[in-house]
Amino acid sequence: MSTLPHCRLLLRLAAACWLACAAAHAAAEERRVLVLYSLGADSSSAWQRLVHKGMYDELGRSSQGATPAIFEERFDANRVGEDKSMEGMAPYLATKYADLKFDAIVTENFVASRFLASHPELFPGVPRHYVNHGRDQWQPRDGVGYEVTSDFERALGVIPMVAPNVRHVAIIGDTTARGRLWLDRLRQAMPRYPRIRFEIWDDGGVDDLRRRAARLDGSSAIFMLASLRGEGATRVQPRDLALQISSATRAPIFTHTESLVMAGVVGGYVVSGEAVGRLMARLLLGLPPMTSQVQGYYFDYPTAHRAGLRNLPPDAVILNRPYNVWELYRWQIVSAGALIVMEGVLITALVLSLRSRRRTMGELACERNNLEERILQRTLELLQANRKLEELATTDPLTGIANRRKMTEQIAHELERARRFHHPLSLLMVDIDHFKRINDTYGHEVGDQAIIKTATLLTAHLRAVDSAARFGGEEFVLLMPETHIAVAAHAAERLRAQAAQLRIEAEGGIVVELTISIGVAAADPHGTPDTPSSLLVRADKALYRAKKEGRNRVVCF
Ligand code: GH3
Ligand code: MG
Ligand code: MG
Repeated sequence: MSTLPHCRLLLRLAAACWLACAAAHAAAEERRVLVLYSLGADSSSAWQRLVHKGMYDELGRSSQGATPAIFEERFDANRVGEDKSMEGMAPYLATKYADLKFDAIVTENFVASRFLASHPELFPGVPRHYVNHGRDQWQPRDGVGYEVTSDFERALGVIPMVAPNVRHVAIIGDTTARGRLWLDRLRQAMPRYPRIRFEIWDDGGVDDLRRRAARLDGSSAIFMLASLRGEGATRVQPRDLALQISSATRAPIFTHTESLVMAGVVGGYVVSGEAVGRLMARLLLGLPPMTSQVQGYYFDYPTAHRAGLRNLPPDAVILNRPYNVWELYRWQIVSAGALIVMEGVLITALVLSLRSRRRTMGELACERNNLEERILQRTLELLQANRKLEELATTDPLTGIANRRKMTEQIAHELERARRFHHPLSLLMVDIDHFKRINDTYGHEVGDQAIIKTATLLTAHLRAVDSAARFGGEEFVLLMPETHIAVAAHAAERLRAQAAQLRIEAEGGIVVELTISIGVAAADPHGTPDTPSSLLVRADKALYRAKKEGRNRVVCF
């Protein structure tokens, strides 16, 4: 039961030990370093900023968390002069850092290097690194020197490389110790470029330089050393001098130091402040320094572009280059492109499917039209067949006139009309006399001819409203709407007489004659309504009487 609290206690102890060890380790690991800069004759604040930036960038990149504690001091040589700024520095540093033990001291330039080398009593035992100490062939006795010198041969060589039309180069320098050193080096490099006429402007004030620079044309260039003009309070710093000259001239301005590469100065093969800073950072971290990488091609993009420079080296650092749209929005452009391509594919697929759909629809519509046409055709054929059937069903095949069925329908129809409008309606029933005899004597052929001729006679004299039908055998019915029985009887009489005139030719040149008997009946529009059969019966009765009374006559019912 009591093991649990014990375990907890043990765990707490272990954690406390680990924390204490970690803290001790960290304290032991933390390096303290001192960096000495100078805002002096050899330098400018722009340069300091570059060095500072390069140093901190490299520290952040290489230290992997164990960044040293950095203490920075500056000589204000710019304002109070080199000697004066150095005067009070030793007691100041000794007092300020009395209780601090540094792991390393780095100087950045000539003023700081000269100061530290002349004060061996300061920070005894601390390793000293003299970076960019500014003096050729100089090596300190109490530390390691890393001199950064401009490669003036390459610095001048940039001009014919990127501006091949330049035939004249004005070199702006000064008469300080360092200025004279640089000019000497330049003079040694000049013979390498025999096509260029060099001219050195190391005297004269700012206005004089501006005037001279203004006279230069497109075939000239300026090579600007980090040079000064004036004295004390009126001293013009290298950067300001470069700006003043650039505003006065059309000639491109080349230089040898990164701190002067800015709007108005195209650049060149320069010592990079940031690279010096990186070198210092490596020394502070105890890493091997890379002195060979402190110089490089640096160009100010807008100025180089305006000066129309060509053949910029591919490894050149291009400053102030406007970001192009591709650099800024690469992923958005790629995604948008991919989307557009996908959309294109989808649209194409859609268009293709629509097209095939439309084609199918077209084929379907065509098929439907064909079908409709065929249906129409069949319907017409059917109608014609029906009409033919109807015709066959209502026509007598021998005579071509209506048959009994058709006539019965017509009688029913006319009876209805006559009753409704109180109009007269007459009906004639016609029968060929002794037809049997004709058949028997001259043959059926002749009998048929007799039937046909009688039918022709009966229909030939019909009014448009009248109708005739073969009712059976040699019997015919004539229906006469709007006709009183007397008129019908009169018409019947005329027909009878005409029938008697008919002549049918038989075999052997024999001419056959015939007569007909007619029974006439009429519907009574005011009496009891007739049916077709009642009217027919009356006409038949009249016909019967006509036969009985001797044939070849008309009898009205
Ligand atoms: P009636 O004067 O009394 O009418 O004497 P009929 O000889 O005409 O008498 P009936 O009505 O009995 O005879 C009709 C004959 O008509 C009988 C039949 O053989 C003949 N017949 C019926 N249909 C046709 C036909 O289509 N063609 C021919 N050639 N003869 C037919
Ligand atoms: Mg008969
Ligand atoms: Mg007869």
